[in-house]
Amino acid sequence: MTPYDFDLFVIGAGSGGVRAARMAAGLGVRVAVAENRYLGGTCVNVGCVPKKLLVYAAHFQEDFKAAKGFGWSVGNPQFAWSSLLANKNKEITRLQGIYHNLLVNAGVTVIDGQASLADAHTVRVGDQHYRCKRILVATGGWPSIPDFPGNEHVVSSNDMFALEQLPERILIVGGGYIAVEFAGIMHGLGVDTTVCYRGDKLLRGFDEDLRTFVAEEMHKKGIHILFNTQIKAVEKTAGGFVALTEQGRRLEAGLVLYATGRTANTAGLGLEALGVELGESGAIKVNAGYQTNIPSIYALGDVTDRFNLTPVATAEAVAWVNGIYAGQFTPVDYDHIPTAVFSQPNVGTVGLTETEARNRYADIDVYKSVFTPMKHTLSGLDEKTLMKMIVRRSTDRVLGIHMVGADAGEIIQGMAVAIRAGATKTVFDSTIGIHPTAAEEFVTMRKPLP
Ligand code: FAD
Ligand code: NDP
Repeated sequence: MTPYDFDLFVIGAGSGGVRAARMAAGLGVRVAVAENRYLGGTCVNVGCVPKKLLVYAAHFQEDFKAAKGFGWSVGNPQFAWSSLLANKNKEITRLQGIYHNLLVNAGVTVIDGQASLADAHTVRVGDQHYRCKRILVATGGWPSIPDFPGNEHVVSSNDMFALEQLPERILIVGGGYIAVEFAGIMHGLGVDTTVCYRGDKLLRGFDEDLRTFVAEEMHKKGIHILFNTQIKAVEKTAGGFVALTEQGRRLEAGLVLYATGRTANTAGLGLEALGVELGESGAIKVNAGYQTNIPSIYALGDVTDRFNLTPVATAEAVAWVNGIYAGQFTPVDYDHIPTAVFSQPNVGTVGLTETEARNRYADIDVYKSVFTPMKHTLSGLDEKTLMKMIVRRSTDRVLGIHMVGADAGEIIQGMAVAIRAGATKTVFDSTIGIHPTAAEEFVTMRKPLP
């Protein structure tokens, strides 16, 4: 008889944990998963899903404006945050139920509570101890707010999904995914929005042209962006808050959102006591098979702080389960991870940036197109689209594709398949376009930049 209560104990029922638990159970493995907050994890509860619903909501403001040019009169549209929030909450509750059913129907034992590691084969939840052959830590990340006077007055992205009411004015600190996305959401919902970033271009790590372009588009829409600005303190005032900058400015706002990154969620897990190696940022260190230095303990997803995206966490879970329980480990392809920032307009990207490509190869051609999308010939809105393609001359391989424009996330997904399949520029050129679309530009870019 097995000495273990479970073959596999998964800590955290987020994107990675749920996928691993369900898949392993499907292979006949005896699995338990512990979750202390919400089934579905960050993505379902305070991430991708509610965020995208808010993005849709925010976009209506422009849609109403654009409608006039197409002959519609829509009167004076009114927006009710409480109604959006109630509908969003209903949908999230529905999704939590679906996650619960998926797990239970797959035969996974779902345990409600905070889990920690008692030893290399024992998980503790409350006063219960579970002996297990393997432990998978998939506890995700948590917003990281720097230490400074008054940081108790600021909120994180978690709080944005449960605000009682919208402020008249918001100050958003940071220049990454969350800052840029929430700037679009808040502005679209009628909040006077200022982004305050310590660097000189938003979205570090993205293609330089994209970084400049998206900031210009945001600025044109009326979002204020302060570059090279660092907050040193936030004070409470009678009407809200004032942020004092290192540069001597006083920025008033009804709400201050800090979107300054996320750190691995490892507090209270007991990893240090067991000697599980952590990186500098506190993320769990794993080898190519997601194994920590303690052989029975594994980790994947945001808690390893590498590519903190839902499809990456689920891909890692699939790779890990296949490797451990089906003897077929196929590594995740980390070189071709497509990603989108759901700003307005969207940013979508896959493969190498121009800078990365030039650093790697001497023979790079860049194709670039900036144009007014057809919709905006009548909408009266001043929004442009940027498309960019990076090609290596000697091999003709397309190394990177980048876009700022409506539905960039939708468009780049297809481009990612082509890049991953090794498509050459000749393949793109010989592909028939779909007319009239913006995406057809990617198959009609004929002349590289001089
Ligand atoms: P998580 O989904 O965070 O799951 C971890 C789970 O573990 C949580 O449910 C947590 O409660 C639980 N847990 C933690 N500690 C314990 C414990 N001790 N015991 C029991 N349970 C525990 N990614 C995208 O790809 N696209 C997007 O559009 C996108 N938008 C985002 C928007 C926001 C605002 C944020 C914050 C993130 C967004 N992400 C997006 C990132 C995405 O949400 C994460 O990459 C993804 O959720 C990581 O999955 P995970 O399984 O590693 O962790
Ligand atoms: P990011 O890492 O994307 O951005 C953090 C931002 O905060 C950067 O601009 C960074 O500046 C700045 N920053 C960091 N520390 C400080 C500080 N002490 N003071 C001032 N500014 C600071 O993190 P986010 O919080 O925006 O998002 C977390 C992660 O969640 C993302 O990286 C992404 O993986 C995931 N996510 C994915 C989304 C999607 O797929 N659409 C949407 C939202 C989140 P600098 O660049 O100078 O370091």
